Amino acid sequence: MNTDRQIASVPITIHGRDVNERTQCAHYHSERDIIAIRHKCCGEFYACIHCHNEAAGHPAQVWPITEFHTEAIYCGSCHQTLPIASYLSCLNTCPHCQAAFNPGCANHYHLYFEQ
Ligand SMILES: [Zn+2]
Ligand SMILES: [Zn+2]
Ligand SMILES: [Zn+2]
Repeated sequence: MNTDRQIASVPITIHGRDVNERTQCAHYHSERDIIAIRHKCCGEFYACIHCHNEAAGHPAQVWPITEFHTEAIYCGSCHQTLPIASYLSCLNTCPHCQAAFNPGCANHYHLYFEQ
């Protein structure tokens, strides 16, 4: 079942399976799994790459280094976006609200961002 969630305060829809208001999804839902990522291929925000690949109907593309200024990361705690470059250098802490992000996400960066 697809349960996309519209965040009321901002015009961003986070797609994915069982997405809640903190952008936790059916695949990743620990206390720290609170970011969503806009995908290069379609420009849409998904809670995780599995949500994308189940629903999007096309293969995911990674962001090239030349586009790391793109506001492609969405914080499920403060509902603000940040550029990829800021996310990669934020030491797993939201620069807006200081929420803690999951450091384990670093193991998956290659799925989203050019290395
Ligand atoms: Zn896509
Ligand atoms: Zn997911
Ligand atoms: Zn935040």
